[in-house]
Amino acid sequence: MTSTDQAPTGAQALPSAVDLDATDPLGHFRELFLEPEGTDVVAYLDGNSLGRPLAATRQRLAEFINTEWGNRLIRSWDERWMDLPMTLGDRLGAAVLGAGAGQVIVADSTSVMLYKLLRAALAARPERNQIIIDRGNFPTDRFIVEGIAAERGATITWIDDASRGHISVADVAAALGPETAVVLLSHVEFRTGYMADAPAITAAVHDAGALMLWDLSHSAGSVPVALDAWGADLAVGCCYKYLNGGPGAPAFGYVRADLQNQIQQPIWGWMGADEPFAMNDAYAPATNVRRFITGTPSILAMQPLLHMLELIEQAGMDAIRAKSILLTERAVALADIHLSPLGVSLASPRDSSERGSHIMLDHPQFRDVTAALWERGVIPDFRPPSGLRVGLAPLSTSFAELDAGIQAIREALLELG
Ligand SMILES: *Cc1c(COP(=O)(O)O)cnc(C)c1O
Repeated sequence: MTSTDQAPTGAQALPSAVDLDATDPLGHFRELFLEPEGTDVVAYLDGNSLGRPLAATRQRLAEFINTEWGNRLIRSWDERWMDLPMTLGDRLGAAVLGAGAGQVIVADSTSVMLYKLLRAALAARPERNQIIIDRGNFPTDRFIVEGIAAERGATITWIDDASRGHISVADVAAALGPETAVVLLSHVEFRTGYMADAPAITAAVHDAGALMLWDLSHSAGSVPVALDAWGADLAVGCCYKYLNGGPGAPAFGYVRADLQNQIQQPIWGWMGADEPFAMNDAYAPATNVRRFITGTPSILAMQPLLHMLELIEQAGMDAIRAKSILLTERAVALADIHLSPLGVSLASPRDSSERGSHIMLDHPQFRDVTAALWERGVIPDFRPPSGLRVGLAPLSTSFAELDAGIQAIREALLELG
């Protein structure tokens, strides 16, 4: 036996993945996800980027096409579809976002929803001219801020990225001032998984008289979110990550109830108008959260999200978070044991209370490692310059899959060595 073949010290201390899967209270949910015949997937560790489909979705999409679309045809708009962006938003609000009814819509893409809400927030503070965002935020968030600033002549204050996503209340407080109109941050950072202290940051932003917009793309469906309790003003997020809505699923947007009639979104369309079917001459926004819709939302693309919501409602976010913590703690422990001897470092927080449901590992060879892993059905993802993200979707990822993934990373590193 060479030293690399020996089980590294510490491995024995971890419970076996087989036992963890056998006693996992959410284990039975895994069987509900589609395993296509002949699949080459050994470990899917990218559910934070694109969630897996549910097996039921295939059948239910066929039913939807036969009945709601194929048979009821345009009558379905009256019967069900017109309210779906709001009814689905309410369910998402209750099960996932900690938002009371009437504050969430499902429509647009995350980028477009972000543009609409950020632009509305800036206009709501006409005497102020500054937007705050961090340099480490997801490109779309940074680009939309830059675009709006250019369009509106606003200034941007950047929180620097020295701590790779670890944005503290003090960082935000230092950037805030009398000119701040709105602050945009990600609740869970897309690379390192760092989770911000949302209630404290929101309170600091409010103390400065500004509005707080949270991007929940990497939070929704993986960590508990409490928008109403945080006092958040606005939020957006993706429905195709931990919410498994499928590629290009519409986004969600949250606008606090008492803010809705004070702000106006910039893309006026007939579906967000007060009386869409009156075919009025002039635009008047709807008096409820529907005013943040623009044109016909993608009803077809909302169907898989409906199915996933049923699972989340059954499982409950607390149980989902509990499993997520077990998964990420194990990922960190396995990386310490099997990967750190090969020069891999952890780029994510060690304390699970500061972490979402993915971790990032760093090694100069991870671009090549990720390509090699994808070939053999082990699917994490790569984020430049040298980060490998291990995404752990609590309802669909098994402990055995995680173990197989870490082992495969180790083998690929040794082979490329
Ligand atoms: C994934 C993600 C997006 C994606 O935006 P799309 O418009 O759906 O492409 C936006 N912001 C953050 C923080 C994300 O993680």
